[in-house]
Amino acid sequence: MAQVIMLGTGAALSDAKRENTYLVVQGASSSILVDCGGSPTQRLLAAGVPLESIDHVILTHHHPDHIYGLSVFLLDLWLAGRKRVLHIYGLAETLRAAQAMMRAFEWESWREHGFFPVEFHRVAKKGIELIIVTPEFSVSATPTKHLLPTIATRFVSTASGKAIVYSSDTMVCESVVALACDADVLFHEATTVDEPNFGHSSARQAGEQATHAGVKQLVLVHLPPDGDVEQLRAAAASTFKGKVVVSKDFQRFKF
Ligand SMILES: [Zn+2]
Ligand SMILES: [Zn+2]
Repeated sequence: MAQVIMLGTGAALSDAKRENTYLVVQGASSSILVDCGGSPTQRLLAAGVPLESIDHVILTHHHPDHIYGLSVFLLDLWLAGRKRVLHIYGLAETLRAAQAMMRAFEWESWREHGFFPVEFHRVAKKGIELIIVTPEFSVSATPTKHLLPTIATRFVSTASGKAIVYSSDTMVCESVVALACDADVLFHEATTVDEPNFGHSSARQAGEQATHAGVKQLVLVHLPPDGDVEQLRAAAASTFKGKVVVSKDFQRFKF
């Protein structure tokens, strides 16, 4: 059985109850990490996801709240004894930022001491691209409309045939609707309740996106600091008639 585990659900400005938004898609024998907030090792272990089950990391864009934990995650995998290759996916700009961050920590010198190989895979900046195929999942990506080049991702479970989509950070955007078409669950950002901040969506707009895509369920993530959960849910429910969940950290969604 595949599941999404929300490792964090907060916006860039977080609060006492929420880590920045990132998630892991877990299968029976493998897991894919999407973005990398502040304490990935602790969060994965607390969620019961073995570090060695992760062979793929997708970085949606290079705002700090989405990639700043990558450096310590790579360090931790090395300390935990990893030997095999780790695959990292992102747009050219995202990979450039991730590599620059790692250079700041002089990771070239880690290789002299047995650091495992990392392979970077560049995602195209147009259309819908199939980026990962494993025995358990196929993953596609498409660009969103945000302050920096950003991708949304769609995961299809081989076992169930069900699909989930994560918008990452985006304004209202046709390509996200196209990617989410008929998905079982859309995980959509809701950085505000009604009126959007520039570059982001409100909960009301997340509901509109879910309606246009024809998904069954909407899960709101990337939530405002100390946001009123009932207000967020009601705003999304005013534009989407399916089930709306305002996610909490560590919440699980099977698909
Ligand atoms: Zn963000
Ligand atoms: Zn962002």
